[in-house]
Amino acid sequence: MVECSTKNKLRNIVDTPFYSKLLGALPTGCRMCVKGEKMVLYATGVCPRSCWYCPLGENRKDQDVIFSNEATVKSFEDIVEECEMSQAKGCGITGGDPLARLDRTVEYIVKLKEKFGSKFHIHLYTTFVLCSAENMKRLYDAGLDEIRFHPDFDKLEDMMRIDNALKYDWEVGIEIPCIPRYEKQIFEMIDYMEGKNVSFLNVNEFEVAGTNMDKMEEEGYEAKDIDSHGVEGSDELGDKILEYCQDKKINVHYCSSTLKDRVQMTNRYKLRAEKVKTKFDEVTEDGQLYRGCIYLKGFALRDMLSDEYKSTPREEIIKKLNEKKEFLEEEGLELIVDEKKLRLITYPEHVEQFAEVLNELDLVPALVEEDPTVKAYETDIDYL
Ligand code: SF4
Repeated sequence: MVECSTKNKLRNIVDTPFYSKLLGALPTGCRMCVKGEKMVLYATGVCPRSCWYCPLGENRKDQDVIFSNEATVKSFEDIVEECEMSQAKGCGITGGDPLARLDRTVEYIVKLKEKFGSKFHIHLYTTFVLCSAENMKRLYDAGLDEIRFHPDFDKLEDMMRIDNALKYDWEVGIEIPCIPRYEKQIFEMIDYMEGKNVSFLNVNEFEVAGTNMDKMEEEGYEAKDIDSHGVEGSDELGDKILEYCQDKKINVHYCSSTLKDRVQMTNRYKLRAEKVKTKFDEVTEDGQLYRGCIYLKGFALRDMLSDEYKSTPREEIIKKLNEKKEFLEEEGLELIVDEKKLRLITYPEHVEQFAEVLNELDLVPALVEEDPTVKAYETDIDYL
């Protein structure tokens, strides 16, 4: 990482091209994340803390579940597959607290480095609760490249444990949500960091997410406008933090919710879309797959709650799809059967061109946009 300038000289705060603000250099993990090159490895939902603002949903919080991006992980091979499908050049390990399942976390770091090589950059988010000398040694020995701590604003004395991490030759930083009520604690934390030569501070715009919305409302926080999850007052505190650090040897990045939604996610989707697209698909500017789909009447997405849909075995639907495929191929259409989502996929132009005929055949043609993840959520369906 580039060294910051010396004290007393005010460094410039730069507006980045990806909707964030930067003082000094960007940590390696963030540089790759912005390009969509990092796979997100969610090592466990278990965490020794219980922050009131925790954004984890009920299906993850305190649940010992593992995900690789959006995919459920049952074995290490699932993680490898997701890295390959998303063309990842590194990964960020998060949770919960990955240190709450340290054996697993260490095993994944070692195996990922073995599989993808030492340049596969791995960073990890954790708390100070489990930042013992022994745990830090295990992570360093496993090959971890960068570690980021999320301090407890009501227990800043725990930050002393950062000494256990600072012994090693890796990037050590602090990452916090920019919560206006903790302004005083954040400045105390920065003063402490300065004395310790911690290399970076990442400040995330505080967000009202679907999962913590009720709690946020109770605590008096609301989104700054209808187009954003960002909370009122968070940007302003972010500016104050950047100004406060202008004469300090700390790299600061204020990461907006727009960066996550519009840049990081879109770039990650684009990389995955290029890998998973079929010959029928177009990749949109947002990294979505645009494709022509043909459903059986009664089995389109809109019919999923129908009795027919619920009572027909999948094998039977797949058999019918194959019959329709054969028939349509004889009429000159090119298609594949999508057994997961129970439909046929073809060129968008073909469903438009043959829409009338397909309807007459008791089929439901549609133009579909969907995300390129394993979940393949439809973001737009236009039935023809
Ligand atoms: S440390 Fe992170 S994962 Fe744990 S409770 Fe707090 S916000 Fe949630």
